[in-house]
Amino acid sequence: MATTQPWCGKNFKPRVFEKHPPTLCYDKPAAAQVAKSQYDDMRYKAIMGEMIESVVVPKRSARTWTMQQGDLCRITVCEGSQVGDLNFWNLENTQERFYSGKTRQLHSTHLRVYDRLWSCMPYLRPMATFVFDSLAAYGIDEDGGALHDVIGTRCDDYTYKLITGKDRIGSCHSSLVQAVVNERAMCEADVHDVWNIFMCTGFTRDTHQYFCKPSPARKGDYIEFIADMNLLVALSACPQGDVSIPVGQEVPDAKCHPLKVEIFRKKN
Ligand SMILES: [Zn+2]
Repeated sequence: MATTQPWCGKNFKPRVFEKHPPTLCYDKPAAAQVAKSQYDDMRYKAIMGEMIESVVVPKRSARTWTMQQGDLCRITVCEGSQVGDLNFWNLENTQERFYSGKTRQLHSTHLRVYDRLWSCMPYLRPMATFVFDSLAAYGIDEDGGALHDVIGTRCDDYTYKLITGKDRIGSCHSSLVQAVVNERAMCEADVHDVWNIFMCTGFTRDTHQYFCKPSPARKGDYIEFIADMNLLVALSACPQGDVSIPVGQEVPDAKCHPLKVEIFRKKN
């Protein structure tokens, strides 16, 4: 219907756009689809092999570890509900690192078992494959929320200052930076967008704004992934704990917990 707009005079007609059904942009290239039985078998052999390393990431901090191709990593919520942020680098060339944006395009905003974690260009290779999730039944909830997102970034003190005006050091970003500087002689620029495990996130239906919900993860929940190349991995136990308190408000220490990391390797 013609409406009058002050800036374009009488008889303004709102523009009408053609409608099309959505088409999946990257409908699972072959390399993004693993042979499930092969990865189930690799998982079984690794777990039945030996546990070669166990690391506890203390609450509000981050740690690093390495994996050989084929190793399985299990990350467990070992005390109380807690989310974590992961970074991945090729152990032999740390310029090749996790690319959350392309992983999101190739799979989805939230990873599910048998999805893969991809490296940056010009490499664009699978770095790891997600093989087990004790929370898989959560699925996609009534608001579009789901777990284990690759939406991007990580909590950081720069954004905290934008929101609150306050200076602070105490975020997944600052923890990951400290871990790679202290343990691997790397630098802030090596920390990149993350795989955000155990966190429940989504985008609002009406305005497509980023939202989060308290994590449904409880003590004993865990995820597992298998390394598809030799990896350096870093994990932050988020200072937001289970993310039940909005960013900008004080998070009580009792809301924050460690995460346990175990690496399993098959016997030769
Ligand atoms: Zn965080």
